[in-house]
Amino acid sequence: MSDDKTIFKRIIDKEIPADIVHEDDLCLAFHDVAPAAPIHVLVIPKKEVTNVAALTDQDAALAGHLMLTVGQVARQLGLEEGGYRVVANCGSDGGQTVDHLHFHILGGRALAWPPG
Ligand code: AMP
Repeated sequence: MSDDKTIFKRIIDKEIPADIVHEDDLCLAFHDVAPAAPIHVLVIPKKEVTNVAALTDQDAALAGHLMLTVGQVARQLGLEEGGYRVVANCGSDGGQTVDHLHFHILGGRALAWPPG
């Protein structure tokens, strides 16, 4: 039922707009609506997977594709030279707010560590 869809599933289904920087058969990358860095892009699978913890052995190829896409998108955004951070928040203690697997790509400034 469409009411059960996450906001990211709605973006995948093109029900709501997003500033998309990459799309292929398996995944989508788009600018975060509330950027935490000068460049903040999310890479998500089109398959509905809640988070890293929900990945199974059947998702091995998808997980590999997502990681390769993260690197490719970061390169496309000009982040390779300066470096960047990749974050996958998982569950409530991880700070996950959208229950659809996503990798944050954060860059364009030096980022502090550790996170809060
Ligand atoms: P997380 O807290 O790790 O679950 O990250 C969810 C991210 O999704 C946050 O950084 C939000 O700013 C971002 N977000 C939520 N809704 C949208 C949207 N419609 N378009 C783009 N990014 C979004």
